[in-house]
Amino acid sequence: MPNAAADMTDPATTSGVAAGASRAGAAPSLPHPGRWLLARRVAEAYFKDRRQFSGASRGRKLVRECPICSYQGHFLSVERGQRLDARCPGCGSRERHRLQHLFLAEGGGWKLDGKRILHFAPERYMLKLMAGNPLYISGDLRQPDAGQFMDATAIPFEDGSFDVLISHHMLEHIPDDTKALSEFARVLRPGGMALLAVPQNHAAEQTDEDLSAIDPMARFWRFTGFDHCRLYGRDFADRVARAGFSVAAYMRPPRDQLRYALLRDEALYVCQRLG
Ligand SMILES: [Zn+2]
Repeated sequence: MPNAAADMTDPATTSGVAAGASRAGAAPSLPHPGRWLLARRVAEAYFKDRRQFSGASRGRKLVRECPICSYQGHFLSVERGQRLDARCPGCGSRERHRLQHLFLAEGGGWKLDGKRILHFAPERYMLKLMAGNPLYISGDLRQPDAGQFMDATAIPFEDGSFDVLISHHMLEHIPDDTKALSEFARVLRPGGMALLAVPQNHAAEQTDEDLSAIDPMARFWRFTGFDHCRLYGRDFADRVARAGFSVAAYMRPPRDQLRYALLRDEALYVCQRLG
């Protein structure tokens, strides 16, 4: 079987964030952005990619909605305009962050309530949401605002220490991603959940990997990043499953991809640690 991921896109599981969530379990959100913060992000975006504000580009932009900070309006480009509506000017979130937030808040609750969480390469918006949560630990090898210096291939915690592990766009940087995935499984309790996202070529059945490709430009063209070791194919779910997980791909229907400015093909892999 080329892809072990179950599909989680049926309407019953993609109904969006329900209104009227209970107060105790409601999803946390960041405050609606102030005028000055918005102005600063727009100004930064102008200097990075001023063409997005030209008439032609402006005309291609739709009004979007951020589920994290409730901003509604035009979003900002990243990667010099390669992704025109990637960044929310309110909270700075990108597509995959909004997809994860929608999953975590689905049904009106908040799936991280009371959970012991380990987050690698933490996104800034998650650090803000989780500030003061004693059950939340973040780590990274290079990121200055991560809570701890931490190697994903040698995680300094006992077996079964966490209920949830989050890793977005990190595995492609690690030469031995098999070791990292086995470490993810080790530090999660049986039944615990890993939320994984990676750059992925959905047109390729097999992952394209070459650890000897050390030229940064060669890596960029082949793996979409100057320091990436591989570009995952549709076999990503199989690679995760081999580490001891059941894997389901969470995506949103097209109307939500437009509404929240999500990538059309990007999946959040919801991986349950097998007992
Ligand atoms: Zn936002």
